[in-house]
Amino acid sequence: MSYEEKRKNLVNNLVKRGILSKKKVINAMLKVPRHEFVPANAVSSAYSDSPLSIGLSQTISAPHMNAMMCEYLELKEGDKVLEIGTGSGYHAALCAELIAPENASNPGHVYTIERHEELAERAKINISRAGYEDIITVIHGDGTLGYEKEAPYNKILVTAASPEKVPPAFKNQLKDKGILCIPAGSKGYGQTLYVVRKEGNVFETERKTGVRFVPLIGKHGFST
Ligand code: SAM
Repeated sequence: MSYEEKRKNLVNNLVKRGILSKKKVINAMLKVPRHEFVPANAVSSAYSDSPLSIGLSQTISAPHMNAMMCEYLELKEGDKVLEIGTGSGYHAALCAELIAPENASNPGHVYTIERHEELAERAKINISRAGYEDIITVIHGDGTLGYEKEAPYNKILVTAASPEKVPPAFKNQLKDKGILCIPAGSKGYGQTLYVVRKEGNVFETERKTGVRFVPLIGKHGFST
């Protein structure tokens, strides 16, 4: 079976399970080649709905988690997005498809931060190979500080588990009417995925589902 067929099966399955429903997100997941973002020894599992190791004790999240977060973020053409936790670069590429689709008249941009330099460098290679290098900027650093240089953002997604007290930069660097999607809770034992909407000075927080992410480590995250 070709990668394209495997990708189609995966997406159809996510639609059947009710995880994917938005046409634009479905198209993005049909387009982005996940096999370009996983290590060579895991390519045969690239289209299974499971997290995979990318080295340094880190993972590329399961596709259903990417799908859910993309739907919750309501990504649209022109959005400026901040991702904390680049990992493989796959989720950033999905966001890129949604905010800067082919022939976009008003393309957006994705800034993505990774604390492990080796992963950041590998993600840059993956992103170029898949053709998203003009839309995604990979930064090596501590994402718990956000990325003040390009703030504010329409959307912020955090793909590592934050402590219950969310790093203040995430809310501060969000535009009015912006959306933050973040797993928060305890380290290692599972967390809750939250969607936070900014309306002026008010933040509306919605609990979505139980999740399990690797920890967000940094100044305003966990210590190790
Ligand atoms: N979004 C990624 C993808 O599409 O492959 C998966 C992210 S993985 C579940 C979580 C990532 O967050 C890891 O690569 C980890 O090194 C990174 N991370 C943890 N704490 C961080 C921090 N303070 N700043 C930036 N990255 C961090």
